Amino acid sequence: MTAPKLHVDSADKPKQVTVLGATGSIGCNTLDLIERNKTEFSVVALTGNKNVELLAAQARKFLPEIAVIADESGYEELKTRLDGTDIKVAAGAEALVEAADLPSDIVMAGIVGVAGLAPTLAAARRGAVVALANKECLVCAGDQLLQQVEQNGAKLLPVDSEHNAIFQVFDFDQSENVDRLILTASGGPFWEYSLEDMKKVTPKEAVAHPNWDMGAKISVDSATMMNKGLELIEAYYLFPVREDQIEILVHPQSVVHSLVSYVDGSVLAQMGTPDMRTPISYALAWPQRMKTPAERLELEKISNLVFESPDYVRFPALTIARDALKAGGAAPIILNAVNEIAVRFFLEEKIGFLDIAKATEQVLEKMLRNSPQNPPATIEEIGEIDYQARIEAEATARSLSE
Ligand code: NAD
Ligand code: MG
Repeated sequence: MTAPKLHVDSADKPKQVTVLGATGSIGCNTLDLIERNKTEFSVVALTGNKNVELLAAQARKFLPEIAVIADESGYEELKTRLDGTDIKVAAGAEALVEAADLPSDIVMAGIVGVAGLAPTLAAARRGAVVALANKECLVCAGDQLLQQVEQNGAKLLPVDSEHNAIFQVFDFDQSENVDRLILTASGGPFWEYSLEDMKKVTPKEAVAHPNWDMGAKISVDSATMMNKGLELIEAYYLFPVREDQIEILVHPQSVVHSLVSYVDGSVLAQMGTPDMRTPISYALAWPQRMKTPAERLELEKISNLVFESPDYVRFPALTIARDALKAGGAAPIILNAVNEIAVRFFLEEKIGFLDIAKATEQVLEKMLRNSPQNPPATIEEIGEIDYQARIEAEATARSLSE
């Protein structure tokens, strides 16, 4: 029996893929799948930020039209490393947009943070299938990104495991019969720690996630549970439900990736072992499926699946994020910007673990109190709020570090 073709448009042409953030955890998993399915996919563009060596090695292997290093200081080295190839080499934030703009079928949005917003918007603007891993885009510019998708016939496929799970079991033809979305959360490495113990945790401990192997920023977000807060906002934009219909449940085994509860009492879940190649493959192969090397789920080997309500006292980020979603306007942009800065300060060992949520709460309170703002309409306005929030966040983080 021959395997079914993955692509839908042409029987002979491989799907063309652009990988933004190729050198990261999502990017490497995406390229791993592409390498295992060489005849089904070709690579159009690869981007990285600082890791020139890895980006060059990926480019030599996958032969994209363009390789972009966001950090311009890496340009000369990338050029040297790709000498003798036909691959165009570029650097800087504008070149990321140029890469996203090149014709391709699918764009994997795997850059971390708000840095991924402009290229993701560019991909949506040219009507691509956008495999969205970068959650910060939706948190900061959910309305604008959805508008670009809508206006230009693009397609947004969630890669974040929870949203990918919901996407697989959400009945878009009768969304009025959806009662609740239940986002599952592992609880991160400190789920059983007291507040006293959490004060002392190190970046190394925070980055060591019990179930998932991810980049440093999202791993710290998982440890504070801000990740679930950002995912709450992400879910609000991706699915036609109200904020009060989205619940969070802690499920330490990360086997049930999320659930949709319907008005008739049915609850549909998507399950699997925790391997990002499953949701990534779903986006790459959509609307079909493809084989992955992810470990098979053997339920008989799991003695019990645990679900608990979150602890909002030890994990205040959950409440801070929900309040930001309810407040709307500038609040989610500020939330995201301050969190990005505070996580960086924590990773640089300048502030403590509990200071991340503290800084986020303080800056949000101050900025919303001092300058009640209308909802930002344009990307420029979003950029301005993001910039101001980062200045405030740096000042607050510095004062917490003293
Ligand atoms: P990572 O840190 O491993 O990789 C991030 C990528 O973005 C790298 O290629 C890096 O070079 C690039 N990058 C960083 N800063 C940049 C900048 N200023 N300009 C351009 N490129 C830049 O992160 P990751 O774990 O792969 O996560 C990527 C995104 O996917 C995040 O938004 C994260 O929340 C989301 N996500 C990741 C996972 C996961 O399993 N890793 C799961 C769900 C969602
Ligand atoms: Mg997730």
